[in-house]
Amino acid sequence: MISAEQLKEAIPLSKVAAELNIPISGHGNGTCPFCDHKSFSARGDVFYKCYRPACPTNNRSSGFKSGDIFTLLIDSGHATDFRSAHSILRRLYDGGAGRQYEVRTSNLSSIFQAYRRAAVAHPVDYLEKRGVRYATGTYPLGYSPSPTFLQDNGFTWQSILDCGLGTKREGYELFSNRVIAPIYDSANRLIHLQGRSLDAESDLRWLSTTQHQPNVSECVFNIQHLDRWKSEFGFVFLTEGWTDCYSLLELGLPAIATFGIQANLLRHARAFEGLRLIAIYDNDTFDWGHSNQGQYKSWTQMLPELIRLDQHSSVEIHCVIPPARSGIKDVNDWLNYIEWDKDRFLDYCESKMKTLFQTAFEIYSPQPDQFPLIVEAAKSTRRSEDLDQLRNLITQNSDWLEFILNHVRT
Ligand SMILES: [Zn+2]
Repeated sequence: MISAEQLKEAIPLSKVAAELNIPISGHGNGTCPFCDHKSFSARGDVFYKCYRPACPTNNRSSGFKSGDIFTLLIDSGHATDFRSAHSILRRLYDGGAGRQYEVRTSNLSSIFQAYRRAAVAHPVDYLEKRGVRYATGTYPLGYSPSPTFLQDNGFTWQSILDCGLGTKREGYELFSNRVIAPIYDSANRLIHLQGRSLDAESDLRWLSTTQHQPNVSECVFNIQHLDRWKSEFGFVFLTEGWTDCYSLLELGLPAIATFGIQANLLRHARAFEGLRLIAIYDNDTFDWGHSNQGQYKSWTQMLPELIRLDQHSSVEIHCVIPPARSGIKDVNDWLNYIEWDKDRFLDYCESKMKTLFQTAFEIYSPQPDQFPLIVEAAKSTRRSEDLDQLRNLITQNSDWLEFILNHVRT
């Protein structure tokens, strides 16, 4: 039987809403279709929530903190329980959504096999330089030597277009002279490919397959290995992009990655359950003169997402900011600096690991407009020293007192 997770991955929230004439889209804030209040928000085309406590969506006994495609059917009266919701969604899946998904994943798999053979035939210098030598056996990467590589290997132009690997210029494929990473869903189905250019002059360093939900930015690289890593390690590193992820795999450490910093982690909350997530994003900051000067570029974007994940799941999240040393920006620079010494890397992580609150405090303070995020992060802390720090701040800083008073008034 197809699992609830597989249905959720294959069928976007907005599609279910459209099929059943429920007036919501899968993204952003709006009016709640169940109580008519403007306190409704949907995220990532997967979850929705109405923030009005009296809303019927908050009184169901399903135990979900946020609604998904299953509760949407229950909230809207189309299904009475999980089982009947499952059979409606199964019909939607069989009626098109799922078949398209399956056809695409199987076509992408054959294409990736061809790229994989090319990577073995032309060992790629770029990977050697990144320290990625052995990991590629267990965690394969592909390579495309030319813009007609797939056609030269017998793939039709139509099948290339259907997989989101064509360009506007007929006969020219999306990937040429690129290392290619396979992106799977949690059920181990290949759903996207992302190619990194090996041409230093290229304007578009990263290119991904398009035309298919979920978008690449909604995916988590290596998510298909989480179940195995749960029992083997109990923790996993979360990095910015798959190249840093490969550097850690090379050391024999479990690592997943978001695609840059436009990520949606909440969507994968179930897959993370039972794991300790150790986030390592780049340590570079905005230049002086920029409106966010001095602030960490990636962390300011990613931390709200990590806080949301923490609040909607029981995932234990820690953060490690790479050492502030010239020449070290990301995990790969760092590993090069310490000559790929795994113990040294782990010792540093162990001693410098911070809670979400401590990280929020370090990257946002003391800017008053970031107080709400620091307070949100404090909700997740289980450490009394974090709360003491918050107490000191509030009592010693009139901006904080003002913020809290305003917060109470509105
Ligand atoms: Zn509502």
